[in-house]
Amino acid sequence: MPPTVTVDGFSLRFGKLAHVRIKPEQTRELQLNLIRSHASGVGEPLAVDAVRAMMLLRANVLVRGTSGVRPALPELIVEMLNAQVHPRVPSQGSVGASGDLAPLAHLALAMIGEGADGAALRAGRLRPITLEAKEGLAFVNGTQAQTGMASLLTHDAWVLWRTAHAAAAMSLEAVRGTPEPFDARIHDARPHPLQQRSAALLRDLLAGSEIRESHRENDPRVQDAYSLRCTPQVLGAVGEALAFAEGLVTTELNAATDNPLVFDDAILSGGNFHGQPIALALDVIGIALATLAGLAERRIERIVNPDLSSGLPPFLARDPGVESGFMIPQIAAAALVAECRVLATPASIQSVPTEGNQEDIVPMGMTAAWKAERILGNAARIVAVELLAAAQGLEFLKPLKPGQGVGRTYAAVRKVAAPLDGDRPFTAAPRGTVKSCRGWIQEAALRMLMNNLDPEVAERPQDLVVYGGTGKAARDWPSFDAICRTLLTLADDETLLVQSGKPVGVFTTHPEAPRVLIANANLVGRWATWGVFRELERQGLIMYGQMTAGSWIYIGTQGILQGTYETFGAVARRHFGGSLRGRIVLTGGLGGMGGAQPLAATMNEGVCLVVEVDPARVQRRLETRYLDRSTASLDEAVRWCEDAKRAGRAVSVGLVGNCAEVLSELVRRGFVPDALTDQTSAHDPLNGYIPAGLSVEAAAALRRSAPAEYVKRSVGSIAAHVEAMLALKRRGAVTFDYGNNIRTEARDAGVADAFEIPGFVPEYIRPLFCEGKGPFRWVALSGDATDLHRTDRLVLELFPEHEHLRRWIGLAQERVAFQGLPARICWLGQGERARFGCALNDLVKRGEISAPVVIGRDHLDTGSVASPFRETEAMQDGSDAIADWPILNALLNTASGAGWVSFHHGGGVGIGNSLHAGQVSVADGSPSAGRRLERVLTNDPGIGVARHADAGYPEAIDAAHRHGIRLPMREGEGGAHD
Ligand code: NAD
Repeated sequence: MPPTVTVDGFSLRFGKLAHVRIKPEQTRELQLNLIRSHASGVGEPLAVDAVRAMMLLRANVLVRGTSGVRPALPELIVEMLNAQVHPRVPSQGSVGASGDLAPLAHLALAMIGEGADGAALRAGRLRPITLEAKEGLAFVNGTQAQTGMASLLTHDAWVLWRTAHAAAAMSLEAVRGTPEPFDARIHDARPHPLQQRSAALLRDLLAGSEIRESHRENDPRVQDAYSLRCTPQVLGAVGEALAFAEGLVTTELNAATDNPLVFDDAILSGGNFHGQPIALALDVIGIALATLAGLAERRIERIVNPDLSSGLPPFLARDPGVESGFMIPQIAAAALVAECRVLATPASIQSVPTEGNQEDIVPMGMTAAWKAERILGNAARIVAVELLAAAQGLEFLKPLKPGQGVGRTYAAVRKVAAPLDGDRPFTAAPRGTVKSCRGWIQEAALRMLMNNLDPEVAERPQDLVVYGGTGKAARDWPSFDAICRTLLTLADDETLLVQSGKPVGVFTTHPEAPRVLIANANLVGRWATWGVFRELERQGLIMYGQMTAGSWIYIGTQGILQGTYETFGAVARRHFGGSLRGRIVLTGGLGGMGGAQPLAATMNEGVCLVVEVDPARVQRRLETRYLDRSTASLDEAVRWCEDAKRAGRAVSVGLVGNCAEVLSELVRRGFVPDALTDQTSAHDPLNGYIPAGLSVEAAAALRRSAPAEYVKRSVGSIAAHVEAMLALKRRGAVTFDYGNNIRTEARDAGVADAFEIPGFVPEYIRPLFCEGKGPFRWVALSGDATDLHRTDRLVLELFPEHEHLRRWIGLAQERVAFQGLPARICWLGQGERARFGCALNDLVKRGEISAPVVIGRDHLDTGSVASPFRETEAMQDGSDAIADWPILNALLNTASGAGWVSFHHGGGVGIGNSLHAGQVSVADGSPSAGRRLERVLTNDPGIGVARHADAGYPEAIDAAHRHGIRLPMREGEGGAHD
């Protein structure tokens, strides 16, 4: 930008306006105008991680000291990052020549407190900044948007490069290829470093293969095709290209890329903002990954094509002809390869001059970035198809074992995908902004049903099992197909009835009625036993729907983590002034539920000591970062915890040991935790709890050989465990039962005072239920994480006073990986839910999120469940087992116009033990949705407040009064509405 504008002694260049001189008093205005005018990006917003990368890099550039700005600017960026305040940065409209002018201007606009993102900044309790001379310009000049994306892409590309080797090795085994071409001597004779590395990786993966040994002799085939034998040459070259791009990106990360630059002795104007190095790097990444994708697709073809696969069945089908097997995934891969190749056309050679031809050669870096991102996504999907096909191929070669590395890859694949034992639909939910159904509620039901069965979400999708043992989304595959078909044609004034996972009728109702009504597993009282249920299930007449499985609103394990976070939060509020900082929580069990405890405790700023007998469970929680560190030494564990407590550090420690032994020893030593609970599976003394003195393996052996002896020892240990809990309680530990029935088992074993330990619901959850508070969740139907993050910000904007909620949202964004469609859960109460739901509807209406949002909840909620062993244990008026309340809840939500309503039996605690209702509503931005949301989200928690008020809880009576909930029996008595 050669022409010059003189500002406070700086010579700045502004295209055709360069001759204009700016008076000193106009400096601030100029800086503001610079930002306002450049904040003109268009198109879909960048993903949150890309925005965060851009922000971090921008702060990094500004602290170099060559930009001539005050430290307050990078400081505010870092504060925004820490507070999870991310501006919405449009992805298109930047040519990348003076750097990423438009994307950076959108960040700057938020920082000066303007626009919707400026409001978010204020809502995040951050103070907007006032720009001084040059600061506006320093802000918008630079390559951080494209460099941020390039650095994330480089990282992901290397992960994919390694994964592509794992897939290639498994494919080679599946088609019984030879590893000879990977001999080191061949590659040392042509010593490109990454070709050598690639061959070495393949050799490692294939070492020790029985499959290889089975065809070493007398193999009539001479040589494998290039897609198998030239893998190191092709992937090696891909690696060299990635390394070249990485070099450029790495230099750029710490480079000064704005203009002019301020040095000790001069202010110099140059062209460091020009994005060519990064644009070129991104194009190279795209070309390299398109090559990788093409190679992977060719190997898929070799596995599924019976003429090329050396004996595998056609398309890997169990019953070729009747079934299509992997025929269609290969088609999908072919389509994706074609797209990769179209996108691999370079952007960095597509210069279109701008700024009156002042910027006459521009790099188009952002275009290169989104292209590379899309190629990467496609290539990852193709490699995923290859992994599935190759793993399926290995099924046909059993009992021969593959190489050890391939064996590990196979095991990783099987953790998430069962072998194909017959054609089944691909059940991941459709995404995007275009609906296939006639209305958004039907579309939402369809997507959520499919999302429940997404392999990322469901435990056993092939059996339609979502979670909780046998909790299913539909009765069988024909029922699933019929539900989907019906939803696709269901009119806006019709309602579909689903009986235990099978669609049984469609009736004309009216537009504001629910589109689906669901009843699962309900049995008349006298017949409400597992025995009867199993027999009816065997006859194909009934289905167990758990809670959110059969009502199509399960969102993965986030719910467990959040529930535990809320419980620990309630403990902190009641006993420790709102935080667990400087407190030690002692507990047991790192299983399916219990594994959430360490992270939930550290999210509440506390120290957590978890005792778990199975080292493999400890290891898994370390790997998923739910647990920070582990040891088998009690001394070490106690020392770590006490150090962290003194320092006020949030740390979780897994101690490999048996609770019955460890807790008794802690009593002997006089160690008293601040809070104490347990989530070992004590509810099942045979298959769950492990008796003192036994390893997991020894326990399994005893369980098989002498089950009665096992139970005796188990119950004895449970008694010792609870005795120790009682001793610690008496010494001051805040102690509670966490729903694992450990008190009953101990009482039956002779610990008469076991029930001195209170249950967690009456103690901590019921006070929340009295306020209408319960687990509330929502899902972005677009599938776009950016939409979900916008809703995260909305929650924080609406409830800035909820510190606990703010902490949860921030940590959830950091620690919770989405499973299936992006979802969020948090606890909101009466009034708050309706406010949030209507505000979400407005976001959709204003187009701030790209597609409608589904809002639902667990059946475990304030007014929707009768479950005397858990949620309604020890009600003040003795109404624990009365199920009129959940029935009224379902009827009320139907009358109020929820999107779909469900009523189930047996969720959580089993058949005979609970009855409960669910509702899901849809915010599609329409006025009708606004009305329905207002009604449902007011009435649904409202009946919970009424239920607890009826039982006599003063907090609930108060809440009813505050929220204007009419309680007829109290009217005229000085209660609400008198
Ligand atoms: P799980 O079976 O997956 O895990 C239990 C863990 O306890 C296992 O890892 C096991 O190795 C360990 N363990 C068993 N005996 C032990 C001992 N003596 N010492 C140390 N570790 C031992 O079960 P889960 O899904 O994590 O559930 C835990 C308990 O919580 C169950 O009893 C379950 O019924 C109950 N639960 C509570 C709620 C709730 O809302 N609070 C909800 C569902 C389930």
